[in-house]
Amino acid sequence: MTSYQELVKNQRSFFYSGKTKDVAFRIETLTKLKELIQNHEQDILDALKADLNKPEAEAKRAEVGLVLGEIEFTLKHLEEWAATKEVPTPATHEGAKSFIQPDPYGVALVIAPWNYPFQLAVTPLAGAIAAGNCAVLKPSELTPRTSSLLAALINENFPEEYLCVVEGEVETSTALLKENFNYIFFTGSTAVGKIVAKAAAEYLTPTTLELGGKSPTIVHSDANIEEAAVRIARGKFANAGQTCVAPDYILVQKNSKQALIEKLKEVIITSYGENISSDLDFSHIVSEKHFERLTNYLDNGKLVAGGNSDRSKLFIEPTILDEISFDDSVMQDEIFGPILPIIEYDELSEVIAAVRNRPNPLALYVFTQDQRVQDYILNNLSFGGSAVNDTISHMTSHYLPFGGVGESGMGAYHGKASFDTFSHFKSVLIR
Ligand code: NAD
Repeated sequence: MTSYQELVKNQRSFFYSGKTKDVAFRIETLTKLKELIQNHEQDILDALKADLNKPEAEAKRAEVGLVLGEIEFTLKHLEEWAATKEVPTPATHEGAKSFIQPDPYGVALVIAPWNYPFQLAVTPLAGAIAAGNCAVLKPSELTPRTSSLLAALINENFPEEYLCVVEGEVETSTALLKENFNYIFFTGSTAVGKIVAKAAAEYLTPTTLELGGKSPTIVHSDANIEEAAVRIARGKFANAGQTCVAPDYILVQKNSKQALIEKLKEVIITSYGENISSDLDFSHIVSEKHFERLTNYLDNGKLVAGGNSDRSKLFIEPTILDEISFDDSVMQDEIFGPILPIIEYDELSEVIAAVRNRPNPLALYVFTQDQRVQDYILNNLSFGGSAVNDTISHMTSHYLPFGGVGESGMGAYHGKASFDTFSHFKSVLIR
């Protein structure tokens, strides 16, 4: 096996050959990647089942489907995005012309998490390819089947000096981060994001950090409560709550709380049945450690739905906890599991104060029929992105750059934002 130093050196030589700058070559690579995914869809779904018990329909939509959608959208627009654009020149520079030329950084490192282990590895990889970079991808060790499938798909079909998957645990990431990459794209926890940012500082490597946090979901009393319950449950319980933009907790106006809880309970029964057991087609918790962490929250507040778990299968059923306060343990860190705490409020000003008092969330949701309430929330709080009267859906639009702010991350991707993220824009004046 080539050392990481050699790997980066070989990729940089390949980059300097100029091959990846050719847009036709990038299109050829993305087309090949798309076909590989299409031809191996069942292998991908099987790996996700083995790693996370991920339901097939969910995996088709949120892993394979999202990646294919991104690649197809990129293929459609790449020539236009990659073109050098002429911009006006001020009169003081008479006789000159000005251009902005998108330029790939060189060799990119992509570090991926385990919760959507295929999508969150391949979407940034496709962005790196589209922009004309070479790339090293490090998938998560907590989803080993998907990691080894990614290694097989990429390493057997592309030259190592262009694209390479390196499998391994924390030590592998640590060792890779010692190398001089031209770009680092990291998706994972805020704690590890800080380690990555420190490592990147050594070479002043530009970095995107796609991190997590506690995403609040505000339900104002004028909301359509039934619709809110359906959309919150869908966003929260997909992948057993192990979604970076899942509603982490609910802030509901006092007079609507009971109605919301009743509707949420109904939706859980409609979606998963009356007697939920670990045989349910429902994602499992990724590891014993996370199972342990999550089950410790189950005695917080008042249990109003769910609460059962099965350690042998790392299964926790959809659970709702009422009478929660910001002091409870479930409110200290991102939950990342199928446990939904509910906190009530009287006035919206309490919501503003509570959310401002915590790190900026990756997502924030508000359910209301009142434009003034919507504006008040959107204009007064800082967060990565939002869906109003919905959850998660903002993340799946090619036209909305996706990323966090503050402790939920820096930078963004998806659609053209992926191309932009992996490109440096050279400003050139020609006299
Ligand atoms: P993690 O930070 O533990 O691990 C992510 C990656 O970093 C893995 O590949 C892992 O091997 C590597 N890593 C772990 N420790 C490291 C260290 N000390 N030094 C260098 N590399 C290290 O995150 P996770 O548990 O895989 O994922 C869950 C977190 O990711 C949650 O906080 C979630 O919100 C966040 N997340 C964010 C997004 C987003 O798009 N913003 C998407 C998914 C998950």
